[in-house]
Amino acid sequence: MTELATPPVEERTGVKRISHWIGGHAVAGESGRSGPVYNPATGRLSGEVDFATAEEVDRAVQAAREAFPKWRAVSLAKRAELFFRIRELVHDRREEAARLLTAEHGKVLSDAMGEVTRGLEVIEFCCGLPTLLKSEFSEQVSTGIDVYSIRQPLGVVAGITPFNFPAMVPMWMWAPALACGNTFVLKPSEKDPSASVWTAELLKEAGVPDGVFNVVHGDKVAVDAVLEHPDIAAVSFVGSTPIARYVYETATRTGKRCQALGGAKNHMIVLPDADVEMAADAAVSAAYGSAGERCMAISQVVAVGNVAEPLIEAIRERIPKVKVGDGLDPSSEMGPLVTREHRDRVASYVENAPGEGAKVLVDGREDVPGEGFFLKPSLLDDLKPGMKAYEDEIFGPVLGVTRVSTYDEAVGLVNESPYGNGTAIFTRDGGVARQFQFDVQAGMVGINVPIPVPVAYYSFGGWKSSLFGDRHIYGPEGIEFYTRGKVVTSRWPDPATSKVDLGFPQTR
Ligand code: NAD
Repeated sequence: MTELATPPVEERTGVKRISHWIGGHAVAGESGRSGPVYNPATGRLSGEVDFATAEEVDRAVQAAREAFPKWRAVSLAKRAELFFRIRELVHDRREEAARLLTAEHGKVLSDAMGEVTRGLEVIEFCCGLPTLLKSEFSEQVSTGIDVYSIRQPLGVVAGITPFNFPAMVPMWMWAPALACGNTFVLKPSEKDPSASVWTAELLKEAGVPDGVFNVVHGDKVAVDAVLEHPDIAAVSFVGSTPIARYVYETATRTGKRCQALGGAKNHMIVLPDADVEMAADAAVSAAYGSAGERCMAISQVVAVGNVAEPLIEAIRERIPKVKVGDGLDPSSEMGPLVTREHRDRVASYVENAPGEGAKVLVDGREDVPGEGFFLKPSLLDDLKPGMKAYEDEIFGPVLGVTRVSTYDEAVGLVNESPYGNGTAIFTRDGGVARQFQFDVQAGMVGINVPIPVPVAYYSFGGWKSSLFGDRHIYGPEGIEFYTRGKVVTSRWPDPATSKVDLGFPQTR
């Protein structure tokens, strides 16, 4: 393990080298393997990220393992104090973080600020860790006997994260994990890895001891090393459904606790009584915000009855006004997609839609700005189950419309989807909204709210193929995930009453 000296890649290419963070220091990778990082707004290479070998992952795990006994022994009061310091630093530097996100992910600066702010809310929730870790006590369960439960950390835990929220999704994991007394190894997305190194530096500055938070970059090699490592007790994953399923199956096979959040195809049902202007605003914001690269993006509008025509008209009116451009330009509302390959894949759904029998009402491939990985918003009509543009998670600025006649048909579409992340209904009828909440098979439900991401003191998670595992992420379920229970039965007897009793202990 060499501490970072002069990074040869910077000398060679002039781009930034992004290295691992192990035991409190930047550590240059030695595998000889690396991946390109782009500025999606210009299409130019901006960095080169080291890819870890299994040995390098092992070094990070060993650093976390060594740090664990001391970290778990830090008093709750001191840990909370540290969390307040982390909170202040992230808050003060959120624009710096947002600029990093925009530079590698492409999302517009205001959206990047929103990402950091939502992550910060999870850190703020964790500042209450002394309360979150309180347990139960029953006095006198039997004569002179008390029973109490305690929750203890698991040990070394790992997080594997996607490209679309390079700061916030890791915060969903490391903040509760550390608050509960675990030490952490993060394997961030290789597409926009700088935010994780920024986090590591910030945590060190806040006073988090070396080894408590580590970062290893890489691809499947690093992920597999995490999944197979015998000293990792739990894995949190967020990413696409096929990889989530693989991670869950592999991690649980090797005896780890695992929560693996997958992809999504979120439907927004609009009933005939809805406020059409409000529904159109919501659909456009939720479909094209962050260029549709959100797991809670609305990608499918289900228009019920005669709302279809006015709704589509209202959406079409709004689309040309969405300003697409470099995320650093304050007038931009939608930035580029993350990579050229992803942009081309998203564009292929628009290209193939007519062949599937759908209509392209707005083609976002036309007049795209600049050299970067841009697409403009697209709108597809007459999408139906069975079409690829309907079934697949496109993960780009493509909104599909499906027309149905009844509420039952609309809910049926949502419930038949293999995904169950988020969904929303737009209506003025409280009774129908209440019925929808009761009927719908999804983990997060919006009523006249298009992106119902739960606040930090609830937990986030989908159903069906959007989540493998039992526990949702962050909030109270996050605390449960990163701790395990112990129940103590205790007696401080009067020695005078002591005697041998081979009978099974009973409540007396
Ligand atoms: P991804 O599945 O391609 O990558 C996620 C992580 O898995 C990355 O760290 C990546 O390096 C790793 N990975 C990729 N291929 C792998 C392989 N073959 N074996 C082992 N590891 C592998 O996802 P992405 O493209 O980075 O992110 C977008 C996806 O994430 C979308 O499907 C989106 O819906 C989903 N997502 C879900 C949520 C949620 O909360 N449910 C939140 C954000 C993103």
